[in-house]
Amino acid sequence: MKITAADVIVTSPDRNFVTLKITTDEGITGLGDGTLNGRELAVAAYLTEHVVPLLLDRDPMTIEDTWQFLYRAAYWRRGPITMTAIAAVDMALWDIKAKAAGMPLYQLLGGASRSGIRTYGHASGMDLPSLFDSIREHQEKGYTAIRVQTAIPGLRAVYGVAAQATEGARYDYEPARRGALPTEEDWDTPSYLRHLPGVFEAVRNEFGPELTLLHDGHHRMTPNQAAQLGKSLEPYDLFWLEDCTPAENQQALRRVRSQTTTPLAIGEIFNTVWDYQTLITEQLIDYVRSAVTHTGGITPMKKLLDFAAQYQIKSGIHGPTDISPVGMAAAMHLDLAIHNFGIQEYMQHGALTDEVFQQSYTFTDGYLHPGEKPGLGVEIDEEAAAKFPYERAYLPYNRLLDGTVHDW
Ligand SMILES: [Mg+2]
Repeated sequence: MKITAADVIVTSPDRNFVTLKITTDEGITGLGDGTLNGRELAVAAYLTEHVVPLLLDRDPMTIEDTWQFLYRAAYWRRGPITMTAIAAVDMALWDIKAKAAGMPLYQLLGGASRSGIRTYGHASGMDLPSLFDSIREHQEKGYTAIRVQTAIPGLRAVYGVAAQATEGARYDYEPARRGALPTEEDWDTPSYLRHLPGVFEAVRNEFGPELTLLHDGHHRMTPNQAAQLGKSLEPYDLFWLEDCTPAENQQALRRVRSQTTTPLAIGEIFNTVWDYQTLITEQLIDYVRSAVTHTGGITPMKKLLDFAAQYQIKSGIHGPTDISPVGMAAAMHLDLAIHNFGIQEYMQHGALTDEVFQQSYTFTDGYLHPGEKPGLGVEIDEEAAAKFPYERAYLPYNRLLDGTVHDW
């Protein structure tokens, strides 16, 4: 089998997506997700200008060799643009191999280790009543695990909080706004540290001890502040505290870990196993948060998760709506197959996205399943995709109350 074409499809139904479609001489096609939120066209150009010419006439079955070739032959290693582009190729090749085998991809990864993939959804509110409403809406959809984010008194706009709890037919707090420039948000960590424990106390009092709760700190705290928050949230039994501090400095997590038993999840902005080396070998985290789409694809994610398993660390694969249905399906096949599955983030895509991407995965009673179609189980309607041209969109950024740029 030979690769005869590789096409980069950029579409913007509810939001921007980059998809790589690889075609073979035997008529089998494969899809890969190359979406990097706010920097989509950089990945599209990397693929079109530098990767697609290398793929033509290659054997699509040589997935490991192609991965190593794209990683090593570029000379310049790692980084989100490169690793997202490689991920798109890797997913598309696994899609082709599984279609050629006539099996859903999870079968090639070792077969199902569980019957379904437990998910968590994102609830938020400007105040406690609207937060409680949002949690109830998620429970009604079947979620048994819910991420809780709230507004902070004195701050205008805060990450993870929807302007409206219900927007049209679906809940959405999508942070990437279409427009010429990014929006500015404000931040004050002391106000956050004072406010948040009371929110979790109120949620526990309202919903009881059984509901699984998560929270995302979105890289805003110092290690000492993160240790303080982890301690103050211990009475509320979180499933995890996510991205409590920027983790480029992995050693900084020793401070957090030594001070709190609140489980820690990190990694959604990482793109290789090297970003985790200290975090995993010293067991400084409990969950790996990487996205298949931003970490070089299925091949390195399986290795990363197997590495984590040796240290009793589980998966918590990144899955907001800026991961396309193709990238979500790739995550689900891994989730179903690996032994050290933890939980899967899942925000449902909107109707326009579903019009462009036909999916065989299902969501029932809080559990996802990738379905039984050969391959990843997602196809793209290129005519529908062409109706939604790219629109520039940026993630917001943060300033402290004195105007200093802060981690968003
Ligand atoms: Mg996050």
